[in-house]
Amino acid sequence: MNKIEHIGIAVKDLNEANALYSKIFNQLPYKTEEVASEHVSTSFFKAGESKIELLEATNPESAIAKFIEKKGEGIHHIAFDVEDIYSEIARLKKEGFTILNDQPKKGADNKLVCFVHPKSANGVLIELCQEIK
Ligand code: ZN
Repeated sequence: MNKIEHIGIAVKDLNEANALYSKIFNQLPYKTEEVASEHVSTSFFKAGESKIELLEATNPESAIAKFIEKKGEGIHHIAFDVEDIYSEIARLKKEGFTILNDQPKKGADNKLVCFVHPKSANGVLIELCQEIK
């Protein structure tokens, strides 16, 4: 694991959250992107080397909608940058972690991603992401 690539924050209204975080970072999001497979709209802010990802559900089936229903808005996941997502998945499975998707999928921001179930990581949803080159 190289570094924290980004922190994902679940929001109810992406436009409102973009306006708010633009004030916090004193800059506009550098990217907004809909990820149809995950039923989310996202936007990204840069904070030095790290990023903040804001996520809004695009329909009630979205994991983000369910998260907000249960816990309200807030930190949803922490994403770590990895060199080789396939070998990291194999390694973590061997260690007994529950991986939500054994096959990495295409996430936002040009990344291959997979998630470690929060039940096997002290309540934290961990995302592994590898830049697609
Ligand atoms: Zn993420």
